[in-house]
Amino acid sequence: MANKIRVTVWNEYRHELNEEAIRNIYPEGIHGAVKAILEETGEFEVRTATLDMPEHGLSDEVLENTDVLVWWGHLAHKAVDDKIVSKIRERVYRYGMGFVPLHSAHHSKPFTSIIGCTGDLSWGADQKEIVWNVAPYHPITDGIPDCFELFEEMYGEPFYIPQPDQLLFSSWFEQGNVFRSGCCYYRGLGKIFYFQPGHEACRSFYNPYVRRIIQNGVRWAAPTVFSGTYPQTGCIHQKTPIVEELKNK
Ligand code: ZN
Repeated sequence: MANKIRVTVWNEYRHELNEEAIRNIYPEGIHGAVKAILEETGEFEVRTATLDMPEHGLSDEVLENTDVLVWWGHLAHKAVDDKIVSKIRERVYRYGMGFVPLHSAHHSKPFTSIIGCTGDLSWGADQKEIVWNVAPYHPITDGIPDCFELFEEMYGEPFYIPQPDQLLFSSWFEQGNVFRSGCCYYRGLGKIFYFQPGHEACRSFYNPYVRRIIQNGVRWAAPTVFSGTYPQTGCIHQKTPIVEELKNK
């Protein structure tokens, strides 16, 4: 492909440094694992960024050259600088940068601020999960069967999010909970895909369906080429009646 989708995979990178068991599952870090998932297809140009880098690895130059930002965070949500969060939201709303928050990113500042919610949910022990594909016509579910099984941390309803613009996956957990596990949103020019699997102690990033869904999700979230006059810095006052302007084009 001539123009690859430019992806930045962001990870707080705490569990892997501090816990040997997690490091053994993801020796290159969760960001390294997700990068490998994306590089598998050859369609993406992938870089990684972590919390401890200057500006969390998300300088203006990086954000301006990111088509889709993937986010994994858990322990250190509060350590993420609010100024960077505002810049991320701006990139999504005004420039169409895609945003793909994974698993515990439901509580991350970028997710809650872009979507407008607390992201609270019910939580429980690791157990069997069946992920149901409830939107088989959607590009993100391409190649995914009716359902597939994972061993995952339980995330359950109520999940305090606005009603998704499109619900793609709905999960059943062995102990009786259910969860909206794949949700799409449109905000400004941007597309957001939240996907629940990816607990650090489970091995879901090695599951072939999870890998395919992440690849499909990043591809879907990439900016749409838009030639309109969407205000990028505020409202545009229309001085000439639009019907007159169109006549002269
Ligand atoms: Zn988790």
